[in-house]
Amino acid sequence: MNDGIALYIHIPFCKQKCLYCDFPSYCGEENKMLSYSKALSKEINRIKDKKISTIFIGGGTPTYLSLEGWNTIKESIKRLNTTDDLEFTVEGNPGTFSEDKLLLFKNIGVNRLSIGLQAWQNEHLKRLGRIHSVEEFLESFYMARKVGFENINIDLMFGLPEQSLEEWKQTLENVTNLEPEHLSCYSLIVEEGTRFYDLYDKDKLNLPDEDIEREMYRFTLQYLKENQYHQYEISNFSKHNRECKHNLVYWNLEEYLGCGSAAHSYIDGYRFRNVQNIDKYISNEVNGISPVEEKNKNSEKDDMEEFMFMGLRKIDGISTKKFNKKFRTSIYDIYGDVIKKYVSQNLLVEKEGQMFLTPRGVEISNTVMSDFIL
Ligand code: SF4
Repeated sequence: MNDGIALYIHIPFCKQKCLYCDFPSYCGEENKMLSYSKALSKEINRIKDKKISTIFIGGGTPTYLSLEGWNTIKESIKRLNTTDDLEFTVEGNPGTFSEDKLLLFKNIGVNRLSIGLQAWQNEHLKRLGRIHSVEEFLESFYMARKVGFENINIDLMFGLPEQSLEEWKQTLENVTNLEPEHLSCYSLIVEEGTRFYDLYDKDKLNLPDEDIEREMYRFTLQYLKENQYHQYEISNFSKHNRECKHNLVYWNLEEYLGCGSAAHSYIDGYRFRNVQNIDKYISNEVNGISPVEEKNKNSEKDDMEEFMFMGLRKIDGISTKKFNKKFRTSIYDIYGDVIKKYVSQNLLVEKEGQMFLTPRGVEISNTVMSDFIL
């Protein structure tokens, strides 16, 4: 992407905290929605000299933000200088949006929705602490189609407690029957600090064993390929030309701006992080204090590592030429031994200037990628 940068906007509110979630999101803070939106507007208004090519409003549950809140940030978003082919995504959960909200999204230029479903079985949704049923998901999905959203992602998860391979197959079959343009399929990771972690710690989380989980992933690849979804990243699949441009910015180590609590930015070789605490974020903005809590200059070593392990997440991997040009050195001088090792184990391939993981390499990508840390 040469003619603009990406913008991420964080909405930290959720109706209920999912049991597996370690994102900076909160429930029971609805009374702060309006003051948060005002603060957010102020921060967005400061973006003056940048052309924006993608906007991703994530969270949290952005669709849970009240209409009043949306109306508050609306004008600031409309004022942004955007490219003609802007990709503008809003993330949401079933049951948290109405036609009114969707029409407002259309009005401010949103052209992509990302809806969290996770599983097709209500007992799994309940066990995950999700706020919705499959029926509510269907209602929300059809509503979005009716309002005219032609680019929809659905988030799914596999490797859930008590989940069978059959149930995962059923999830994929039912979801692909709806023909969304994009699918994200992540395996559940039990993160420290979550309710699931406590259960796991007490041996009360009955997760599928590793072989079943691997089988679930293999089935995903094969089934989605047969159904015209092409895999372009370890966990992401799209119909022709419907890859998420915003996420590709992260994987390509390109620049992005972040607004809102806990939002990150990567500009001019610096990484910035805003305060996570909602009250602090609001009071900083009210008092004219920068919400940025941390600012670090990435060293060349950091950039090289990130270039490799973000880039290798993509199925077509990284361009060796781009690496050589960006770092003014040969990739083999830096990573020669690691490359040799994994090529000889058939986990990594170099072909026509691209370096990428083989299907087996993708399966154990965490191990391979950790070797690219210098
Ligand atoms: S809806 Fe998303 S952000 Fe909110 S608690 Fe659940 S997983 Fe976390």
